[in-house]
Amino acid sequence: MTIHQNGHFNFDCQLCGECCTGAMRVQLNLYDLYKMAKHLKLSSTHSLFQKGLVQLVEKDQRYWIPIIKFKKWTIPYCPFLVNSMDEQEVLHGICSLHPKDKPLICSMAPLGRIIDFQNQSVEYCVTAPLEDCPGMGKKRENNIQEILDFHEAELNYQFVYYQMLDSLPNWKASKEMYLGEIYSFTTVPSFDEVFTSIKNNLIHLTNQKSTPNNALQ
Ligand code: SF4
Ligand code: SF4
Repeated sequence: MTIHQNGHFNFDCQLCGECCTGAMRVQLNLYDLYKMAKHLKLSSTHSLFQKGLVQLVEKDQRYWIPIIKFKKWTIPYCPFLVNSMDEQEVLHGICSLHPKDKPLICSMAPLGRIIDFQNQSVEYCVTAPLEDCPGMGKKRENNIQEILDFHEAELNYQFVYYQMLDSLPNWKASKEMYLGEIYSFTTVPSFDEVFTSIKNNLIHLTNQKSTPNNALQ
């Protein structure tokens, strides 16, 4: 359900870890890749792909986006999920990237943002990560504006990244091209420096290759 930016919802994560398993798809943005690589002390985001932690999947038959590559066991599970047992012998699922290096989509959940560039609209929705998520409806009140303010910088990075993907005219490039030109970058400089360089690189490539007869393959 969509919810007004000034609204609130009741939710309190019970740390069961269930939403970090199964068919869940954790979509990442460029800043998520940067944070995850830094967390693992990797000097390039390319290593996240090499280590099999992240993979690219095609979105809307238009471009490639990174998602966390779940490990396969009896059920698939996120490689960043760590299980622990409390004194009452209740099993908990903790995110090893929590709190500051967690992907934005996980940090915001169950609050989501729907951006429609065509109609220039932004809406917010509250969606249970799982049908029977035990945190939904729990007493703790969450103020949407406070969540948005807290994540403001990351939400801006994410918006510009989506805008960048959306503005690629007829740019149907290969997975390898996306991996090399957009998703593999150094984590040594600040993210702002890295982001500016990716944007400039992409503008340059798009200008060179955007005509239909010359589209990147
Ligand atoms: S399923 Fe719900 S309660 Fe359990 S970890 Fe996910 S968000 Fe938290
Ligand atoms: S990154 Fe953390 S919160 Fe997100 S799915 Fe993986 S373990 Fe769960």
